[in-house]
Amino acid sequence: MAKQLERCSFCGRTKRDANMLIAGLDAHICDHCVSQAQLIIAEELSTRQQDGFKDIELMKPAEIKRYLDQYVIGQDAAKRVLSVAVYNHYKRIGQQNRRKGKDDEVEIEKSNIIIVGETGTGKTLLARTIARMLRVPFAIADATVLTEAGYVGEDVESILSRLLQAADYNVAAAERGIVFIDEIDKIARKSDNPSITRDVSGEGVQQALLKLLEGTLVNVPPQGGRKHPEQKMISVDTKNILFISGGAFDGIEKKIGNRMNTSMVGYGTGKIRETIDRDNLLQYIAPQDLRSYGLIPEIVGRFPVVTHLDPLDKEALKRILTEPKNALMKQYTRLFELDGIRLSMDDEVLDFVVDKAVDFKLGARGLRSILEAIMTDAMFELPSDSKAEAFHVTREYAENKLSKINLARLRVA
Ligand code: ADP
Repeated sequence: MAKQLERCSFCGRTKRDANMLIAGLDAHICDHCVSQAQLIIAEELSTRQQDGFKDIELMKPAEIKRYLDQYVIGQDAAKRVLSVAVYNHYKRIGQQNRRKGKDDEVEIEKSNIIIVGETGTGKTLLARTIARMLRVPFAIADATVLTEAGYVGEDVESILSRLLQAADYNVAAAERGIVFIDEIDKIARKSDNPSITRDVSGEGVQQALLKLLEGTLVNVPPQGGRKHPEQKMISVDTKNILFISGGAFDGIEKKIGNRMNTSMVGYGTGKIRETIDRDNLLQYIAPQDLRSYGLIPEIVGRFPVVTHLDPLDKEALKRILTEPKNALMKQYTRLFELDGIRLSMDDEVLDFVVDKAVDFKLGARGLRSILEAIMTDAMFELPSDSKAEAFHVTREYAENKLSKINLARLRVA
């Protein structure tokens, strides 16, 4: 009996008519139909995304915090505040969708957030983790490179270009994404006196940023860079973009202290005064402190949620090494595992790494550089050693490896 001609089960093309025919269990598909199917999938996914809010799974604040706990150590106060702000923000978008065409007068305002805390304490990590949890596009912008239009540097619109890129140019997805603006403290007005001559790097940029924060249609150059007459602009509505800002605000404790002292004068508040934790004044941060630091009132007004991060102590640093879902130690263990090698480490090695990070003021970011210095030789040699099955790190080994490098060189900030 003649062998039955193999055909694409979708379009009927024979092997000869197609470039390629892929065999399945008891069907075939040709290259044309694969391409066609790919287009259908892309279209379907994009419509689903444009449905906007529907595909964001809205977790309750307590669930959001539990999610953050898996990746970020400590910082409980900030996590609670952020969980509520994020929950309310996306609830607000949901309400907007429902309000369309209805007569609901209560409009919930946006909850942009400012996080104040030393560098390397988890500001970016928190913002990034929230974006990952919500599966929304996420972009990081550095406030220090932003300038007013017409000056050397990046226009504020470049922030949205980055968000668009992160969203694969799906405008609807970008319009409900999250932007993290780092080092917002660096664009503070240099003097408390608003009448001082305008400074390019400070107030001008704040004014430009305000436009994005207010929730307007902004014309964005898709590839970033300068606006250019020939470049086709994409219009992005910033109304539902959540802006999270971070900054170290060096020296703001003094402003907080001054405010708290003055506000207590004349109230016979000896008791309250005693309960103030003078070592961590940051926890009392309030919007007016950001104003006295040099953010213009309009900007402060657009960031209704203000929270702080605590400095990381030794215990927190040690936990960072082992506890988060993608903790450094878990990553190294996996790297060795892929070569069939079981990695183990004495607990005192972790204490040693933490002590070094603290001694050299390297913070959480330095943990990785220190571990890298300890592990590099082993990671170089062991994969070629066919007999290697396990690798155990002792404190002596770690000390020996670290003694060969100059730790001060690792300082990040
Ligand atoms: P910031 O934005 O405050 O300067 P990052 O969030 O970029 O600091 O933190 C730098 C790195 O240090 C992170 O990528 C993370 O590996 C680690 N890290 C910092 N703080 C924490 C924390 N609280 N929990 C877990 N890891 C942290």
